[in-house]
Order: sequence, then C-alpha cells, then structure tokens
Amino acid sequence: MKKLKILFVTSEAFPYAKTGGIADFTTGLALALRARGHEVRMLLPRYGFISERKNRIHEVRRLKELPIPIGDRIEYASIKSSSIQNPKAKVQVYLTTHPEYFDHRWGIYTDPDTGEPYKDNHERFIFFMLSALELCRTLDWYPDIIHCNDWATALLPVYLRTLFRDQFPRTHTVLTIHNIRSQGIFPLSPTFALTGLPQSAKELLTHRRKCNFLKAGILTAHAITTVSPTYGKQILEDNKLSGGLSQFLQQRKDHFYPILNGIDTTIWNPRKDKWIAKNYDIHSLDRKEVNKKALLEKARLEYYPERPVVGMISRLTPEKGLDLLQKAAPELLQLNCQYVILGSGEKPYEEFLKAFATEHPEQVGVRIGFDEVLAHLITAGADMYLMPSRSEPCGLNQMYSMAYGTVPVVRATGGLIDTVQDFDPEKKTGTGIVFKPYTVKALIEALQRAIELYHNKSLWYTLIRNGMKQDNSWETRVKEYEKVYAAALTA
Ligand code: ADP
Repeated sequence: MKKLKILFVTSEAFPYAKTGGIADFTTGLALALRARGHEVRMLLPRYGFISERKNRIHEVRRLKELPIPIGDRIEYASIKSSSIQNPKAKVQVYLTTHPEYFDHRWGIYTDPDTGEPYKDNHERFIFFMLSALELCRTLDWYPDIIHCNDWATALLPVYLRTLFRDQFPRTHTVLTIHNIRSQGIFPLSPTFALTGLPQSAKELLTHRRKCNFLKAGILTAHAITTVSPTYGKQILEDNKLSGGLSQFLQQRKDHFYPILNGIDTTIWNPRKDKWIAKNYDIHSLDRKEVNKKALLEKARLEYYPERPVVGMISRLTPEKGLDLLQKAAPELLQLNCQYVILGSGEKPYEEFLKAFATEHPEQVGVRIGFDEVLAHLITAGADMYLMPSRSEPCGLNQMYSMAYGTVPVVRATGGLIDTVQDFDPEKKTGTGIVFKPYTVKALIEALQRAIELYHNKSLWYTLIRNGMKQDNSWETRVKEYEKVYAAALTA
C-alpha cells in the first residue's frame, strides 16, 4: 500500500508513561508501522515523572511556546523531542509540556496522593489535543492519519471535522477504544466552552446531560477500532458493558473494526529479555527454572521443584477479577501452589493483598506498585499466569505468558476468548486453561486442572509449547491496521 504519514496521539506510550495496555499498544503498533515503511510520529504529554535525561528528551526551538486557546484564554505548549526504537525501526516522539497541566503531575489521570482523578482532566487533555494540531501546523507536517486512543484524545476527530477542517483537508482519523468504560465524562459547563468548538458541535459531545469525549469521538472518527473481536461484539451488543455507548457504535457499525492487539516481540521475548535472570526459548525450557528460582527469591518464597508458581500482574480493579480473587482467597490457600502477585489500584484490594501476603508468607508474595522489571520476571518465572477478569478488552499478559511458556489460566471473556484456547488432553490441543462462570468454584477448578496437568510433564510441556508457538506479534497484526487506514482514507 501507499506509504502514509501517521501521527499517534496518546496519553500513554511505553516506556515514557504507562498504566496499562494502551501504552504497549501505541509503541508496539507505531514501531511495526514504521518497519513497514510508513512515516510514523507520536505525541504524548510530558508528565512530571518522565525523566528527560533517561529518555533523551530535548527542546526544539521552533516548538517552544506554541499558543493554544483554552476557552477565552491562551495557554502555551512547549513541545519537546525524543524517539523510541527497536531493532527494526525508530519513531520520532514529541512530548507536550506545560507547567500546570503536566510538568508537576506525578500521575497520568489520577493524583497519586489522593487516589482521585485530577479535577482539571478535561482541560488538560483539551489542551493536549489542541497541541497536536498546533504541532502539525508549526512543522508544516500534515498527516494522512491521526490515530487517537481512548477518551483523552477522542475530541481530535471532532476538531478535524469542524474548526480545523480547512487547515487539514487531507487528514483522516482513527480512534482506538482500549477500554470503553473510561469515557471522559465531565460537566457540560464549563467543559464545552473550554473546547472552543462551535455551538453546532454541542449535541455531538452531549450524552446524558454531560460532556462525553468518547461518544463524540465514536460519532466523528473516520474509522473506529477496538482491541479484540469478542470485545467488539460485546460492546456493540451489551449496553451495560459499553457504559451506554452501544447505540453510537451501532450507528457507526460500518466503520467499526475490532482487531486483536499484537505484542512487541522485541521487548516481550524470553530469548532476548534483558530483565529476566536467564534467557531461554522453546528448545531450552530447562532454563526457565532459573527464572522461577530468581522470582521466588525476590518474593522471599521457598523454591520447591514440584510446586507450581501462579503469577499475576494487574491493575487492582473489579474488572480484572479482584473481587473474585478476594472471595476465593481461603480456597486458593488450599491448593498446592504459590502465588506471586504484582499490582496497584483500588485501595481495598491493595490492603487485601498486603494482608494475604503477610498472613501467609510461605505461600504468597505480593508487591504493590508498578514495576516493569518485576513484571518481566513474573512472566518468565511463574509456571502459570492467572487472569480471572470480569471483562477484558484484549489483555496482553496472557499473550506475554504464552510467549514465555507460562500457562495462562483465564476467564472466558473479551480478548481472552480470542487468544487462549482451552487445553484438551486427549487431542493435545489448546494453549491454556479457560473457565467460564465468574465464580469461586470455576476459578478453583481451573487452577486444580492446571496443577494436575503440571504434574503430568508430557502433557504440560505440550501445553507450554502450544502456547509458545502462537504468533501474536505486531508484525502479523499490523496489516489489519493498514486496511483500516485505507478504509479511513476513503470514508
Ligand atoms: P489493561 O490495559 O486493562 O490494564 P492489559 O492486559 O491490556 O490490561 O495491559 C496491562 C499492561 O500493564 C501489561 O503490559 C502489564 O504487564 C502491565 N501492568 C499492569 N500492572 C502492572 C504493574 N503493577 N507493574 C508493571 N506492569 C503492570
């Protein structure tokens, strides 16, 4: 296909800023598209926690103090420059700075001191979106595609169809929904006035008497994608799951493309991973055990060769199945395995996990916080990876786990259905253990089944190898996005 100019606009991108899958998505897809010859650039905010030294971020003289109208005020954005790369590609990254909105914020959406969303999130991200358009104008670089991600960038399609239409006549938009439950809902006043959009756009932004950024993006983007086929179907049909937005997706059904996420196999690859204790591949699985020992040592747990380790890395929310995990806790302890859990999120779940580890130090290791390095060691060192999600747009950890020969134990929902096939010991097919009802009984039975298989080494290694042979790389999935861009350009 024709080589395109593509600008990714995102509130998160690995390694600069990450709370979840969106960060891995933007970086992974941007690099994969660049490797296919497209001209790809990316813009994200420079939050306070992003180190300029470590990320080699520098000033660009002509991108200093760009005027951005916010309601009837003018604020100034200074945009800095950096880059991301893997062995196959390099992508130019821009970072929007602003003293109040970003420079001294230690969270992305939520204040880590209070656990509450920042009160000016509407204003911060309106400013950020407008800085993207000002960036293009100043550079005189007009992309064919602006790829927006979630609510924080979802008004860009509206701007491009209204205020900026004449200046960007050839730019089309794609909006990816990573999690439809986060919609960017704010009071209509003063939010709408701050956008600077014409009165005619007010209806577009309004939903249930509030301003809803994601709804407006769904109605105006040239193409909308989401991160797995099953989740796509679920949010079209289930208005509760979609937080009331199904009707708008249905209106745009012809322009809606559910595509399974890929993984960046230059970062998530047991053969090359620099954060694990020992590299290995499908032919040297005995070396995986070194990682298990290293993980247990880190978690201060004793190593038993015959006792499987169950890993978990997660935002601690009910969506991720934390309520189920908590309910199942007494029975989890009855199983002959150990648990290593890394996560951060809702305070009651953090408290529960801390107590779970303190009360059972011989069986449970818990780290509360965000730790990319430990996430890699858990993925490599655990025997099984637990994902009891209530809902799951795509989920990346089950794909990372399979690549590392760590068997996913997952609940059948959203992207987990599309990526993990239940193991059949007779036919020797399947890549993990899948359970359906969202109940303690089903969860425990799934783990029991996994533990039983673990003790049958021949079947266990078949299961592991089935998972490792899956190709979930962006290199395969990127072509689907090229098709979406082609469709967006003619929409
Ligand atoms: P979501 O975006 O809903 O949180 P995904 O499975 O799509 O879920 O992506 C989660 C990503 O965030 C994975 O890369 C996972 O390893 C990472 N992650 C989640 N919590 C943590 C944590 N506490 N420390 C390190 N990485 C984490």
